[in-house]
Amino acid sequence: MASVELRDIRKSYAALEVVHGVSLSIAEGEFIALVGPSGCGKSTLLRMIAGLEEISDGEVLIGGKVVNPLTPRERNIAMVFQSYALYPHMSVAENMGFNLKLSGLSRPEIDKKVGEAARMLALTELLDRKPSQLSGGQRQRAAMGRAIVRDPAVFLFDEPLSNLDAKLRVQMRTEIKALHQKVATTSIYVTHDQIEAMTLADRIVVLNGGRIEQVGTPLELYRTPANLFVAGFIGSPA
Ligand code: ADP
Ligand code: MG
Repeated sequence: MASVELRDIRKSYAALEVVHGVSLSIAEGEFIALVGPSGCGKSTLLRMIAGLEEISDGEVLIGGKVVNPLTPRERNIAMVFQSYALYPHMSVAENMGFNLKLSGLSRPEIDKKVGEAARMLALTELLDRKPSQLSGGQRQRAAMGRAIVRDPAVFLFDEPLSNLDAKLRVQMRTEIKALHQKVATTSIYVTHDQIEAMTLADRIVVLNGGRIEQVGTPLELYRTPANLFVAGFIGSPA
């Protein structure tokens, strides 16, 4: 795991700036929830941290090192999306081991890592199945398994549960919490679900129109929202 620091990050698409100078320090092992209305720049920010989107201005540091010039693979970051993006023709085990194979790990090493992750995520019985033979929750666990086997320094989640029904979301939320307690990987978790943010996060970052409105613990945001926008978003009585 590693610390993450954003220094005055900006993003423009053509002449239009959509992220306006975001700065944030995230400690090793911290779980950050990133919340805000649709279109406020959450995914863009994650994609810049992951190296999937060019940074227009500013610096991203991981483990104290500027990573702007590095490729996604070199950044050692794992990203979990709402669409599971599993390879349909591969089994769960093959999906989970695919990136390890690309990195040149031996078959026994791959099997060991996949086996460990499968136990952690209750996927052991499902390793031979194809994604089409899994439920939504099982697919999301397989996608997380594929991310975990790489021992990433940082986990990025982009609304990973938004395609699941309410009951499954609650269950997966508990599993993600348990997983973070086990592996303690620094995590940034985008969600539009306040309850998810409040229950999972060490600190919540409220983004609005490409700017940070407030950063604080769930209790701080609830008790002392910086403004009406935060109060409205967190649902406090203020
Ligand atoms: P969120 O994830 O918070 O819903 P996004 O990061 O997806 O928001 O988008 C932030 C803003 O950037 C939006 O106004 C969106 O329309 C714009 N945007 C995102 N991707 C592109 C793109 N490839 N080209 C132009 N504008 C984009
Ligand atoms: Mg988004």
